[in-house]
Amino acid sequence: QPSVAAEAPVAAAALPYQDASLPVADRVNDLLGRMTLDDKIGQMTQADKDSIVPQSDINTYRLGSVLSGGDGTVSPNNATTWADTYDALQRQAIGTPLAIPMIYGIDAVHGANAVRGATIFPHNIGLGATRDPALVQRIGRAVAEEVSGTGVDWTFAPCLCVARNDRWGRTYESFGETPELVSSMSTIVDGFQGAGGAGSTAASVLATAKHYIGDGGTTNGTDQGNTQLTEAELRAVHLPPFKSAVDRGVGSVMLSYSSWNGVKVHGHKFLVTDLLKGELGFKGFVVSDWAAVDQLDGQTGFTADEVSKAINAGVDMVMVPYDYKKFISTLRAEVDNGHVAMSRIDDANRRILTKKFELGLFEKPLTDRAYTSTVGSAEHRTLARQAVRESQVLLKNDGGVLPLAKSAKLFVAGKSADDIGNMSGGWTMSWQGRSGAITPGTTVLGGIRAAATDSSRVTYERYGNGIDSSYTAAVAVVGETPYAEGKGDRTGAMGLDQEDLQTLAKLKASGVPVVVVLVSGRPLDIAAQLPDWKALVAAWLPGTEGGGVADVLFGDYKPTGKLPMTWMRSVSQQPINQGDGKDALFPYGHGLTYGTGTEPDPTPTPTPTPTPGAGSCTATTKVTNSWSGGYQADVTVRNTGTVALTGWAASWDLGNRTVTNVWNGTLTTSGGRATVRNTQWNGSLAAGGTVTFGYTANGSADGLTVPACSGTTGA
Ligand code: BGC
Repeated sequence: QPSVAAEAPVAAAALPYQDASLPVADRVNDLLGRMTLDDKIGQMTQADKDSIVPQSDINTYRLGSVLSGGDGTVSPNNATTWADTYDALQRQAIGTPLAIPMIYGIDAVHGANAVRGATIFPHNIGLGATRDPALVQRIGRAVAEEVSGTGVDWTFAPCLCVARNDRWGRTYESFGETPELVSSMSTIVDGFQGAGGAGSTAASVLATAKHYIGDGGTTNGTDQGNTQLTEAELRAVHLPPFKSAVDRGVGSVMLSYSSWNGVKVHGHKFLVTDLLKGELGFKGFVVSDWAAVDQLDGQTGFTADEVSKAINAGVDMVMVPYDYKKFISTLRAEVDNGHVAMSRIDDANRRILTKKFELGLFEKPLTDRAYTSTVGSAEHRTLARQAVRESQVLLKNDGGVLPLAKSAKLFVAGKSADDIGNMSGGWTMSWQGRSGAITPGTTVLGGIRAAATDSSRVTYERYGNGIDSSYTAAVAVVGETPYAEGKGDRTGAMGLDQEDLQTLAKLKASGVPVVVVLVSGRPLDIAAQLPDWKALVAAWLPGTEGGGVADVLFGDYKPTGKLPMTWMRSVSQQPINQGDGKDALFPYGHGLTYGTGTEPDPTPTPTPTPTPGAGSCTATTKVTNSWSGGYQADVTVRNTGTVALTGWAASWDLGNRTVTNVWNGTLTTSGGRATVRNTQWNGSLAAGGTVTFGYTANGSADGLTVPACSGTTGA
């Protein structure tokens, strides 16, 4: 046994930049002073992993960054294989004289989605439907842990596009159509990085706000197209999410391939340097999109002019991704001939190196294997399932066909009912995604079978063959198959495909009530079929925990999702602001829950004053229609005092009826919490009605607060 003294002592930092106790700015300055121009140009170069041949080119060319990108097929290796690959590449980087680690970036846009076995979360459009920024932040944290487990340091997420045209193939990467909704979801940045910015938490993964700016506003929704807007409109619609991400300390910003009023963003100094870095005060680094610099002159390949134009506009790191040797020699020549100033090179390096130091890459360049086992963990899958539940938007529910009884005889059909690939969409295991069992998970069918009291009463036939009138309901899971980026642009009709229409026709012919679960990355043109369906649930692209859809179908979770996009009545209503939601099939924000009528929306007004012994809390509803079908109310009480409380009663004064539930548990001291739920009332609520939640405490309360009082509809 070696004694403790025999172990090598931790080496004293040899040079100031290696001393983690110094401020990051001092370390950056020290390091910059030791770097050659070639070292600096290397830092600004990002090459695709598969194009780096031999791998020792990372060392030879001092490559600052490696990515696994969308143009090719990402190998869906397991987490350990990814980590081994990462470590081998990183050893090349830290084997350089200054031992500057490379930073590895990947599109972890809804989970560690290039890793077989990872938890795949709903795509952003579904997260937008949850209206739950706190949940989205937790998802960011879970994704960061899984990504960290593969060694990867940086995700090209979140996409903060404000999607204004359903024709766009990237609509599902958007949290929604309004700047307010998208901005609210920038909490995911805190999840990825930690709330204090890059490196502020364990397993901190650098986030990327993309694609700056206007990617969701192009004419006809054409991917990489032109966004024709006044500066005031651009600022009002497309800037706010970036401002909110910058305010959260987002570490990087990726530019959009698109143009603003005919000028490519990648060459737009006003947008990149003046507005983003200047006015918004962005302190991280700007990365180009994949080979986007090649597009500046409209010709394939990049020229010296394009390189200097992009760098001078404010691009700090160029995603080359193939011709890294040519890029390096080109930029070197542009510096030597004075087209790119040394001050610009130093500024870019300062930005990049600052993030590498903040992330702790110099101290811990290799994979922290403690996180490898979090990939696809039960805890993360539970979180994803919760996100699936919250993202479901109940658009129609005639006659209360939903929730389904668990004992019902059900016929399940449709191409996406039992297909993890379809449920996950693009950016899953490969760039374009793919139908089929591409990674482990629970399908909608799996969720239905698991929940049914007798799974033998659930029949599944993809095409709807064999249905007859003996079934209680048919559940059709239909919609889009995977696509990514421009390959998903739709220029013509936007309805269901032939297979879905034929399946639905068979179900309709049986006379059995049809419940449609639409798996899609965007609203589709379904107005013609809607009358045939008793119920419609927009499931978006739920990912590997699509079984959560069943939780909503059976009422284990009452739907709470709200439309993140206006639902068109016809394709003529694109772009979405044209119709202004007036004649939409379903307006922005629409979402039913179980019951009929317009959902009451209780707002606690005000938070009640703590009153030991008894008190009440009033929630006024925004009921505009009469409501029937049941009302459920929750009151959360918290004991802030020193005496445990026992014997609780909560009463619900519903105007025409009072219901009292007694909760007999003990409310412990020091913040003990209890939620009292009324589930017994079943009656009707008149338009303009008021719901009052009250409580009484029979204990001796010396400190009591009722911080939350909320109501949800449901039988
Ligand atoms: C996409 C980006 C992505 C990049 C790297 C590009 O084609 O536009 O969103 O981050 O590829 O995969």
